[in-house]
Amino acid sequence: MRYEGSIYRPPSEADAYILQATVGCSWNHCTYCDMYRDKRFRVRDLDETLTDVRAARLAFGNDVRKVFVADGDALVMDLPHWEAILGACREAFPRLKRVSAYATAMNLNAKPVEELARLRELGLKQLYIGPETGDDPTFKRIAKGAGFAAHAEAARRAHTAGIKLSAIFLLGVAGVERSQEHAEASARLITEMDPEFLSLLTLTVVPGTPLAKLEQTARFELPTVAGMLGELRTIVALAEPTGSIFRTNHASNYLPLAGRLPRDRQRILDVVDRALAGDVALRAEWARGL
Ligand code: SF4
Repeated sequence: MRYEGSIYRPPSEADAYILQATVGCSWNHCTYCDMYRDKRFRVRDLDETLTDVRAARLAFGNDVRKVFVADGDALVMDLPHWEAILGACREAFPRLKRVSAYATAMNLNAKPVEELARLRELGLKQLYIGPETGDDPTFKRIAKGAGFAAHAEAARRAHTAGIKLSAIFLLGVAGVERSQEHAEASARLITEMDPEFLSLLTLTVVPGTPLAKLEQTARFELPTVAGMLGELRTIVALAEPTGSIFRTNHASNYLPLAGRLPRDRQRILDVVDRALAGDVALRAEWARGL
């Protein structure tokens, strides 16, 4: 297995075999993101990728139940690439339960639903998508490349194809200026996208990113910790998915929470209120990660 540069995967893929079929992110413009800034996007040569699958089969074939296809938006690959990769994974890993990848709304909306259904049939069962916000002015400001309507359409396509969605939203991303609008619109987009899994992360302004430059010139102000917990509270209070597994277990968060929405809404709100009142310990700044 050969990996190029830093590799990122969601916390819930910690036990997955990571197959790097693309390098970088085909979009690579989001102002807060520095994950793939050092990489020039390309789809890896298919032979190389399939050689990696064969090497993984020899190393741990029977143990692999999950495969996460990296890097930043691997769904962008065309159908022949995906068909070859998913076929090779099914052959190599007899106990494989699911393949997943990161996706953008642009990736999803560029593929016909029939194509997505074909990928689902071949084993691509889950996509991780990070709208980060539901607020259209914030989408523009962070250069996400797609807004509320495009994300709602992307979710509709994924669900029609039978692919599960894990949606990621980012506390603090709208700054102080649009904090409330961001939280309320995020709740509306969660309701609209109705993801099976929902994660909230907390923004860290990374040096060298366009967002850091805005912060240095006082054009972006990160909300306080209490302000970001307030966003979390608003999102949990207003989002109406039909049944999402909810997590804030990412290392960036001050307050790790878990449950189901809407079922556990009140219990989660109670913990957030206790945290806001200072009665629950928050993750220390030094213990946080990106
Ligand atoms: S789409 Fe994802 S990986 Fe690509 S630049 Fe935006 S946040 Fe980063």
